[in-house]
Amino acid sequence: MTHPTWRRATTAVVAGRPEPGPDAPVAVPVVATATYGAGGSRGYGRYANPTWEALEDAVGRLDGGRAVAFASGMAATTAALAALLAPLPADLPVVAPRHAYHTTLRLLERLDRPLRLVDVADTGAVGAALGGAGLLWLESPTNPMLEVADVPRVLATARTLGVRSVVDATLATPLLLRPLEHGADLVVHAATKYLAGHSDVLLGVAVGADDEVADALRAERADHGAVPGPFEAWLALRGLRTLPVRLERAQRSASELARRLEQHPVVTRVRYPGLATDPGHAVAARTMDGFGALVSIEVAGGAAVADATSGLTRLWLHATSLGGVESLLERRRRWAAERPTVPESLLRLSVGLEDVEDLWEDLDGALRTAARLESSPGAATPP
Ligand SMILES: *Cc1c(COP(=O)(O)O)cnc(C)c1O
Repeated sequence: MTHPTWRRATTAVVAGRPEPGPDAPVAVPVVATATYGAGGSRGYGRYANPTWEALEDAVGRLDGGRAVAFASGMAATTAALAALLAPLPADLPVVAPRHAYHTTLRLLERLDRPLRLVDVADTGAVGAALGGAGLLWLESPTNPMLEVADVPRVLATARTLGVRSVVDATLATPLLLRPLEHGADLVVHAATKYLAGHSDVLLGVAVGADDEVADALRAERADHGAVPGPFEAWLALRGLRTLPVRLERAQRSASELARRLEQHPVVTRVRYPGLATDPGHAVAARTMDGFGALVSIEVAGGAAVADATSGLTRLWLHATSLGGVESLLERRRRWAAERPTVPESLLRLSVGLEDVEDLWEDLDGALRTAARLESSPGAATPP
């Protein structure tokens, strides 16, 4: 149920909804079935499911393409790579952000193809790397460094050079960035994060620019079998209904916290594209419809103070992941797989929907206490 003039916030609420009518369900049903009666188009539970289709309809409309749902963001990433790389000669290089999501980088390194890693914020360097390449894997903003690519310009260059392109737009969501409008062949979302938004489900969506790409994605899903469960697809669609209001609120709080953190005595650097001082600000302001709800900070006193901070917050949960209703923080380099160019003291803050003053008081207190404890270990007592 949709109308061509309805805007995105409306689409998020109504897309995929059953046709209205007497006794028609208002909410999308969870269709739990492994197979279907013969003679129809769905055939078997690994090929199709009505609950996936409702979610795919919604994400596809938001992004302006054909969406295919997967069991996780990495399953969508794997299928996207397979779908676009299959027809390309094995020696054609892949261009990717040096700070792409670390599991994506690990996957790219295992491809057995030349890999050109670039700073996505350096449009000239990305353009230069695209010469003679086969595929551009873009992520913007990057996680957790929050570097911003000039997506329209970089995709235009890729098209001119005949290089196929994918954008992992997990951090931006289709509300802030729609790469298909700028010529990307495919968009990937870890729906686990903002789209589902409640930290209760793992799910991925890959959105093809046309039927050919979407058919290739569906073939990957059917053959490799990384299908979402119908209940997981239902949870993701339920979360998607409130994405516009959640993002609006989280973004407003993130922007306020970033502004205050810039003045904080324990914070040496704030990365948030919404700050006028951020290197990505001008490009983000020109190419995105908002700055998102992730903020990365570096703290004085290094990893020890960052670790102590994560241990001292009460409202912010010390956990990985992002995009949920609850605010999370973590020191990214606690993971051995995180790239060595991510600063040791970098804390990634995923701003959720709690009252911004409670978030501020909790974080400010934890940072100050952590700095005090680390500068005179044993001298102070924790609160
Ligand atoms: C989390 C994440 C992924 C992977 O998603 P999963 O659902 O955990 O498999 C991919 N890209 C980005 C940018 C992410 O943040």
